[in-house]
This record gives sequence, structure tokens and C-alpha cells, in this order.
Amino acid sequence: MKWHEMEIQDVAESVSTDRESGLSGNEVEARYAKFGYNELQEAEKTSALLLFLGQFKDFMVLVLLGATVISAFLGEYIDAVAIVAIVLMNGILGFFQERRAEKSLEALKQLSAPQVSCLREGDWVRIPSREVVPGDIIKFTAGDRIGADLRLLSVKSLEIEESALTGESIPVQKSSEALKLKDPGLGDLSNMAFMGTLVTRGSGIGLTVGTGMKTAMGQIADLLQSAESMDTPLQKRLEQLGKILIVTALFLTALVVGAGVLQGHSLYAMFLAGVSLAVAAIPEGLPAIVTVALSLGVQRMIKQKSIVRKLPAVETLGCASVICSDKTGTMTQNKMTVTDIWSGGKHWKVSGTGFETSGAFTFKDRTISPKEEKALHQILTFGMLCNTAELKDEENESRIDGDPTEGAMLIAGMKAGLTRPSLRNSFKIIEEFPFDSARKMMSVIAEDSAGNRFVVTKGAPDVLLGLSGQVLWEDRQEYMSTKYAQRIKESIESMASKALRTIAVAYKPVNPGRELNQEEAEKDLVFVGLQGMIDPPRPEVKQAIKECRAAGIKTVMITGDHVITARAIANQLDLLPPGGKVMEGSALNKLSEEELEKTAENVYVFARVSPEHKLKIVKALQNRGHIVAMTGDGVNDAPAIKAADIGISMGITGTDVAKEASSLILADDNFATIKSAIREGRNIYENIRKFIRYLLASNVGEILVMLFAMLLALPLPLVPIQILWVNLVTDGLPAMALGLDQPEGNLMSRKPRHPKEGVFSRGLGWKVLSRGFLIGAATLAAFMFIYYKDPENLAYAQTIAFATLVMAQLIHVFDCRSEKSIFDRNPFENLYLLGAVASSILLMLAVIYYPPLQPIFKTVAIEPRDWILVMGMAALPTFLLAGSLLTRKS
Ligand code: ATP
Repeated sequence: MKWHEMEIQDVAESVSTDRESGLSGNEVEARYAKFGYNELQEAEKTSALLLFLGQFKDFMVLVLLGATVISAFLGEYIDAVAIVAIVLMNGILGFFQERRAEKSLEALKQLSAPQVSCLREGDWVRIPSREVVPGDIIKFTAGDRIGADLRLLSVKSLEIEESALTGESIPVQKSSEALKLKDPGLGDLSNMAFMGTLVTRGSGIGLTVGTGMKTAMGQIADLLQSAESMDTPLQKRLEQLGKILIVTALFLTALVVGAGVLQGHSLYAMFLAGVSLAVAAIPEGLPAIVTVALSLGVQRMIKQKSIVRKLPAVETLGCASVICSDKTGTMTQNKMTVTDIWSGGKHWKVSGTGFETSGAFTFKDRTISPKEEKALHQILTFGMLCNTAELKDEENESRIDGDPTEGAMLIAGMKAGLTRPSLRNSFKIIEEFPFDSARKMMSVIAEDSAGNRFVVTKGAPDVLLGLSGQVLWEDRQEYMSTKYAQRIKESIESMASKALRTIAVAYKPVNPGRELNQEEAEKDLVFVGLQGMIDPPRPEVKQAIKECRAAGIKTVMITGDHVITARAIANQLDLLPPGGKVMEGSALNKLSEEELEKTAENVYVFARVSPEHKLKIVKALQNRGHIVAMTGDGVNDAPAIKAADIGISMGITGTDVAKEASSLILADDNFATIKSAIREGRNIYENIRKFIRYLLASNVGEILVMLFAMLLALPLPLVPIQILWVNLVTDGLPAMALGLDQPEGNLMSRKPRHPKEGVFSRGLGWKVLSRGFLIGAATLAAFMFIYYKDPENLAYAQTIAFATLVMAQLIHVFDCRSEKSIFDRNPFENLYLLGAVASSILLMLAVIYYPPLQPIFKTVAIEPRDWILVMGMAALPTFLLAGSLLTRKS
């Protein structure tokens, strides 16, 4: 028999699962052994060997290796071996850079891997989806992605969108009844839920009948192996730039070779020098270093609790000009406590904080017993009936399992002595219509022990007020006159103005014989009262908003909460500037797209909005040229998250759908984390600019020193192996260390970067050319000075040129740390850089002074006094321009 045809009990028996307690630990182990992990087989990855060989597929490197073979044939063994060794080391460096980048991308994927709620040994636990085995009982709610193939055991208004499997994007209603169908398609199996499909509404519990490749998804998994490109805009731009640079470098190298040959150098010598120069000057490693810098930045971001799902977001973060953030849980603590209760004209206060279940009820400062006040008792009871939160005790710590709003109402009821078990004895829940943020309410149909049925609804007070035709007033049921409605509104506003989040409770008796759908249940209600709860702002958010403002980033609060509550919290956070507006969802509805675009610029709080409003707000801001970061957690938030330039989801409260749509996940749901991520995003981009600047200026210097020498009919100032050494050592470690540099002091007081900004903007192109030119010129000057003194001793002059070039680059690297001038930064801040520079200097000294290396690198020991010349010329390019800048400033 097929799963969908079986009765639930039979399914449970055939997979040997206890429906009350789930699988035991031993059983789970046995099933891993039998069925393996619950994952789809992935496409094969590139092997390490291929990745390593890939480092040598570059055209110029191949030419260089070819040239080396030729020189070996000509008897230049030392040259040949040294060149091969350097090329190999370059390859190893590139290999590790790429490996590291790949590993961290892999780690990112792991971090955002989905989890499921699973019943094991009698407890509901969260486990990674890959650990589910056949027989596991799994619980899910709206927003979850189903983790395995399930036969449904129970459902509450469950709807699942199965387009990933069936192509049908309209969600399917599910039930748990056994089915008798002839030749059903996947879409007809209404008592099954399939791996990879999305819960769009309601909730359910299912029994796992298929995992991994043995699921409906597994059967079509081959079709799903399309890899998404993770290249960032900068990486793409660099790739294009790389092509231009290759052509330029080749052209200049050809010029060097041509000029050299015309000046009488041998073709062979010039060929080897030219190819080495081309290999050194072509920044083939740039994209890999960029990826490494990005992924190292991403790891720093993980430490600061932001998980990047899509690498391009790192760059876009630096451009963000508006952050649209949810209020509840992101700007506030989501630790709610009911402090005020209002019903039928009476206002009670409740004491006690957090998850403590003891607290006193007072009326006009007098402690009262809640059992004796009928209206109070009723609203507390209803608040607990229409409620799915549970209070759990774990390791001596209490925790709310479920929605914090409901948790607060649960605890308020418990303070009055009500308990879940006693309520369960007296009331049976017949039906549940789950909360969603578009309706802004939730309802249950309950039946008491006498068989009376009634609807209990709780939700946004203004919404419930509109649905209530009657009101409970002083224990009587009255017609909802304008007078009563006005009194209720005043109470809502008075609670909201104290920054309380208010939830209204209403009810109505219904006929037990009649089945009601959601719409029928949630109308003609009797308004019972209000529960007001505090949800204090997170302490660090105020400062974060301030810092964002200084960084030219506007913060907008978008909340489903009441406009007055929202305004009160916004004021506590200093979010509203003078003249800044607060807009309600209903007002937003009335605006045309153009009108919204104009007004949105000055709106800082959007209150009582529904998720679909978020999309409109994102679009309006984007049309005004903003780069928008938008947070969200629910199923309905996904379109706005996707449309935003930086979609942000919540690590703790976020649904799978929201997480999958987002490019950044906040592990701690905290607004302040967005600010840290933006800061890091800006820093990473600046660091990439720093090493692009360093590498290209160095390359320009290397090419120019050779070109000038050839044009001036001089001998070669550097031999090929020296050029290759410079490329490996000087351009390697220090460039990487720049990628780890600390941000400049003004990082968060600048305006956001324009997203279309080119790589060479803000004067970078000029800096590369001017520094590069000076490095080349200074190196040549040092060479000529020594060469003309003693033309016989060419090796000595070449060693001087080599040392000058290396030192000029190693001094210049400190200049690259600042957009302004070298004097703006403390050189001892970046210890990686100091280490990299120190080791480069040591290696250089070894090449110059260690006798066994001298013949390989064609160097001779430099006399101490000549270091004055070397250091003077090496410092010149950096300090000349820094000095000219200083005089210009003064
Ligand atoms: P934010 O949008 O900042 O996260 P929010 O929680 O107020 O804030 P929604 O979750 O969309 O936004 O809730 C909208 C309104 O619905 C709330 O202001 C509250 O009045 C009501 N509400 C929230 N949670 C529940 C619930 N579990 N049951 C009934 N009503 C609720």
C-alpha cells in the first residue's frame, strides 16, 4: 500500500515509530546506518589537484614555463630551476587563496543550513534537517520549508506551496485523512508533505516516510544542480578590468622587448625578461585575492553575528543608504511582559517581570484577587485559550516556546493562578485560525465542558474594534455604541502612548452544530478588553541609529504595531528627527506610487503596515535612488526581502522562507548588528581598494623601470628572476595584509558609496599612476647612479635597483592604508602588515647577502653606505607626494 492510502496508525506501525514520543536515540543511530543522512547528492566538486593545476593554465605562465625549458636547453640550469620554483610557489599561493575562499563559501552554506523541529525521546528538539531519518515525527508552521517527505498526522489550516515539485504556485490545502485515489499526481496527495516545499499557512505534524535521495525531490534532484553565480559586482568589474590590464601589460612588455632589441640587447635575454615582466605585471591573482578579502571579511562578520548568504551583499552593504527595520524583536528586545489590562472601563496593573509567574494585580493601587474580578478573569482566560505559546523550564531557566506576545499573555494568566492543564480540562480547542500579520489577529473555536462553543479572537485592537458589534461592560454585554467605541479607543491610545504593545481580546458564542470558516468566525464579535505589554528597546539600538545617521544612512522603522506605540518607541530610540513623519499603512494605501516616492523620503516610521506594504516602500525608496536594506521574518516578508538591495532576515525568529530570500541573516535578530555589518561591508571594500592600489602601482613601477631603461639605451636594470621574486614576495604577503587592514577613522562618518562607483574613482587611478611612475623613476635613478659610477659592475647596480624597487614598494604599502596620506595612519596598527613587510625585508636581505642565493638571483652584497641611496630613493615616491599634499593642505 502507498503511504497516502494508509491510516495514520498503520503508517506509524510500518515505520516503527511511537506517535507519542518519536524515535529513541539508539533507533536514530540504527537508521542513519541504514538510510544515511537526509541530503540530496551534490554535484561533484573540483578536486584539489585540478584546482592546483588550474593555477598554471594562465597563458603567460605557460609561455614563461616554455621559455624556461628553452633556457634549460641553452644550459641556463640555475635560471630554469629558480624560475620553475618561483612559478610553483606562486601556484601554491594561488591554490591556498582559492581553497580558502572556497572553504569559507562552503562554511557559509553550512551556517544557513535549515533546521527542523523533531520529536525525539518524548521531547521536541531542533535538529539540522540533514539529521532527519525515516520514522521521525516533524512539526512545522507557516514559513518553514519541509525537510523530508512526510505523511501528515495532524494539520491546522495547513497550506503548502509545491511549485518546486509540481510547478503549481497556488498553495495546496492539506489534511491528514487517508486517500483513495486512482493514479494520483504529486499535487493530489493532500495528506502528504514533500521535501523542499513551502508551508505558506497554518501548521502541521507529519511522520517522515522518505529522506535524502528517496524523496520526491531526490528523484528530480539532478535537475536542481544549477549553481548560482556568487561573483560580486566588484569581482565582475575586476574581471573586465583584468582583461584591459593584460592587454596593456602585454603591450608595454612588447615595447620593452622591442626597445631592448633595438638598443642591441640579445633577443633571447629580452624575451625572457619580457615574459617575466609580463607574468609579474599581469595581476592574474587579483580576483582570487579579492575573494579571499571578501571571505575573510565575511568571517569577521560572522563573529559579529551577521551571516552573509550571498557574497555580493558584502559590497552592497557599503552602499546602503536606508535601513528599513522591523520594530518588534529587532529594535526591541522581544521580551514582553503584560503590565496593564483594561476591560469594560476598568484598568488593572500587573507586577512582575520576565518569565516569573508570580505577580500582583492592582486596581487603583489596591491589590486585588483576580479570581474575584469576573472581567479580568475572563480576559486572562481568553488570552490563554487563544494562545499556542508554552513556558518551558530548561536547565533551571525558563523560556517561551512560541510567539513572545502570546508568551506574555500566558504568563499574565499564570500570575492569576490559571494553568494550561486546568484549562485543557475545562476547554477543548476545536479549531485554530493561526495568526498572520496581514489579518493581524488569531482565533480559536473552543468548547467548554458543558458543550458550549465560542470563538475567541485576539489581535490588533483597532482591527478587533472594527469587527466587534458588542462589548462587555461591567460584566454585561452591551451594543457597541460610539460612546463605548470612543472609550475603547482612548484606552488603546493611552496604553500605546506609554510605548505598550496592546492586544485586544474578543469572543462570541457559536452554535455547536455549525462549522465556521475563518471569515465567519472573525466577525460580529463581543469586545472583551485589552492587554498592554512592555517590550523595551534593545539598549544598543539608540547608539546604532545615531552612528548610521552620521554615516549618511537613514533608519526607518516598519512595524505592524499601533501608530502611537510605534511613535513612542521611535522617540525612545531618537529615531525621529525634527519634522520626520510617521505614516500608517491605511494612509499609505491611499497614495499613488509617485506620491509615495515623494513622501517616503521624509517618513521615518511606518506603522500598522502589512507585509505587502514593505514591498511598496522598498520600491519607492529605490526609485528615489536609495540602496535599501530591508529586514523581515515572516513568509509574507519574502517578496520585500528579495526586492531590497540587501535583504535581511532574522536568525532566531525568521522563517526558512525569509532566510532563503535574504542575503544577510542576523544571528541575534538585532538592529545594531546591521550597523556592524555595514561598517564591515564598507571596510572590506576599502581594503580591496587598498590592495588594488598597491598591486597596480607596484606593477606600473616594475614595468616603467624596465621601459625607461630600454628607452635610455641602458642595460637591464633587473634580471628576470629578480622581477619574478618581486612579484611573489613583495606583491604577495603585504597585499594580503592590506586586505586585513583596520578601517580608517572616518569610515562611518562618510556618505555611503555610490553603487556605480568605478574601481578607480576617488582619485585611485591617479594615485596608482603617479606612485607607480615615481617608484619606477626612483628605482631607475638609483640604478643609473651606481651604474655610471662603475659600468663594469652591472650586477651591483642591478642589486641596488632590486633593493630600491622592493623597499619603495614596502614603504608605499603604508601609504595605501589611507585615502588621505601616510601620516594619517599609525603604522603599528596593522600587525599583519608589519609582519608581512618584515618578512619581505628579511627575504630580500637573504637574497642579497646569503652567498648560496646570490648566484641564483644574480645579486651581490650591497655596501652599507649604499643603503642610504637605496632608502632615500625608495622613500621618495611616497614622501614626495605626501609632502606635497601636506603643503597643499596648509
Ligand atoms: P514588527 O512588524 O515590528 O515585527 P509586530 O509584531 O507588531 O511588529 P506583526 O507581527 O505584523 O508586527 O503584528 C501586527 C499586529 O498584530 C501587532 O501589533 C499585534 O497587535 C497583533 N499581533 C501580533 N502577534 C499576535 C498574535 N500572536 N496573536 C494575535 N495578534 C497578534
